[in-house]
Amino acid sequence: MLKRIAILGSTGSIGTNSLRVIEALGPGYEITALSGHSNVELLAEQVRKYKPRYVAITDEGQFASLKSAVGGLDVKVLGGADSIVEISGLDEVDVVLSAVVGVAGLEAILAAAENGKILAIANKEPLVVAGELLCEIVGRTGAKILPVDSEHSAIFQAMQSGQASEVSKLILTASGGPFRNVSSEEMEDADVEQVLAHPTWDMGAKITVDSATMMNKALEVIEAHRLFDIELEKIEVLIHPESIVHSLVEFIDGSVIAQMGTPDMCLPIQYALTYPKRLKGISRHLKLDELGKLTFEKPDVEKFRAIKLGYEVGKAGGLAPAVLNAANEAAVEQFLAKKIRFKDIIELIEYCLSKHKVVADDKVTLDRIFIADESARKEVVEWVKQKV
Ligand code: MG
Repeated sequence: MLKRIAILGSTGSIGTNSLRVIEALGPGYEITALSGHSNVELLAEQVRKYKPRYVAITDEGQFASLKSAVGGLDVKVLGGADSIVEISGLDEVDVVLSAVVGVAGLEAILAAAENGKILAIANKEPLVVAGELLCEIVGRTGAKILPVDSEHSAIFQAMQSGQASEVSKLILTASGGPFRNVSSEEMEDADVEQVLAHPTWDMGAKITVDSATMMNKALEVIEAHRLFDIELEKIEVLIHPESIVHSLVEFIDGSVIAQMGTPDMCLPIQYALTYPKRLKGISRHLKLDELGKLTFEKPDVEKFRAIKLGYEVGKAGGLAPAVLNAANEAAVEQFLAKKIRFKDIIELIEYCLSKHKVVADDKVTLDRIFIADESARKEVVEWVKQKV
């Protein structure tokens, strides 16, 4: 059966890799819709190459220039923040691949879930920030979530060898980032250049900083908690610097199933698209003999306080994950702009969380998520102003 795919965020790193993956998969997979935020040139080039039926640009101001850039082509051009919501609900779309940065894409993902689509989720926000809401909709409409985040894809693949009720533990692997072997003192004074020198994965600046603080793992713990509906106590983080074992599932009989592969996002992207089938693709195959050995160690949670925060925030639930996510994004931005020190990132996040006392009946709605997100960002800016 033909899978008709909409890619939200096609001009980013996940988006461009997804296009390569789909192109290589060949017949059976159709690129039906693309969206980008403001990169008109690349988006227009993608339209010429992949011939989608729809293209959307969320930055309204770029609508006219996109329209003229694809003039003469057989494509419907949409513009504005709501354009990706429209695309996600199209009858002609079966799979919505979400790779939009920040909370901007949440409404579109929820719309796709309401419309019973297959959701291939590459960004963390839908499950971290709106996990409760999203899972409730998915349960009601029969939509399906397929993870693209490499660790969650690994767990999802390992899960195929047992029942959910037979799982005793999820083990999320982490590269450990550039500061695995340096002292806390050295790490706290690290500058932007040191942080951006990441050993294994080639990622954007924001995600690379998240990997250095290990905030990415904190967010992934919450993501796994939501996606696999498993208690936080049954989720473990394990440092694995080679980034070959992408995560593991331990079953009640003691069997541990790992998913391995080269550190390349094309494989988890492809599995989300071909599931439950496997097809030949463009990922490089693993040569374990060339690697020789794989190593594992416990994370130092005193040094990497983000991990502890992840568990605390996951447990608190409600809007706390929205505050964590927004405070982190805003703090990382300040760090990359060289306005704050590396150690300030976590301090700032802790400060923002303390300002947002979580109450048990903190009902999560999209509006409330946006409000929590905005106020956490404002608090970060205020904090930085006072400090400087
Ligand atoms: Mg990941």
